[in-house]
Amino acid sequence: MIGIKFFFRAIKQMLESLPVILEIQELDMKMIRLMNIKKQRRNESYKVQQELDDVVHKTVGKDEHIALTRKDLRILEAQITDVNMRIEKAEAKQNSIKKVEEFNAITGEITSAQREKTRLESQASEVTDRLVTEEESIQDLKNEVKRVQETSKSLQKELTVAIEEINREGNLLQKERAILATTANHDLLQIYERLLHNKKDRVLVAVENRTCSGCHIVLTAQHENLVRRCERPVFCEHCARLHYWKVEEEAVAGDVAVKRRRKK
Ligand SMILES: [Zn+2]
Repeated sequence: MIGIKFFFRAIKQMLESLPVILEIQELDMKMIRLMNIKKQRRNESYKVQQELDDVVHKTVGKDEHIALTRKDLRILEAQITDVNMRIEKAEAKQNSIKKVEEFNAITGEITSAQREKTRLESQASEVTDRLVTEEESIQDLKNEVKRVQETSKSLQKELTVAIEEINREGNLLQKERAILATTANHDLLQIYERLLHNKKDRVLVAVENRTCSGCHIVLTAQHENLVRRCERPVFCEHCARLHYWKVEEEAVAGDVAVKRRRKK
């Protein structure tokens, strides 16, 4: 019998801690919100950094491509010079030739060299056009790099300030929580923390209108009675949150309100 009495007393003590756990829960919710903001800010900065990497990568690629195009153009120009020399030589040779067959053969050579020259020149002109376009687009890319660099820099500055502020707030919350935790029932706090760890959301929730205010599923009358009697911890059978009964709290709040009105 003593054992059972002790057991019920322990449970009672545990449940008396519910209001403290509720306070701790509000601090934890603030902390979760803070950490989410921190994560969001970090993601923003990470995205801009990625954008910067991308555009720098593109610029480097474009630079390499332009170098290759310039090389192509130099090769074509060398080929054109070469053909020109061949034509000049052939023409010089032709001047000193007397035989018709030889003269005609050299004319044929010159004609085909001139055709080659035309082809090379048209290629060179195409490559030159391409080079102009590429040089324009690399200028655009370089401007883009500058723009993203500036955005990244100012965002980084903002982020540093924001994170410092978040850490400061977080530290205050942690201190406040640590003080509250010393006054809470250890077993109940452990139950609460385990649930919180799983859900990352409010886990100590009121039963209102016979509904779990965590998952919003309607509960049985029997379940509601168990919560109201507050003799043992009662968990939502749908979402596993721990239930508490709010009426008492409202009554207390009501009393305070009445007292306040009387004071006035
Ligand atoms: Zn529920």
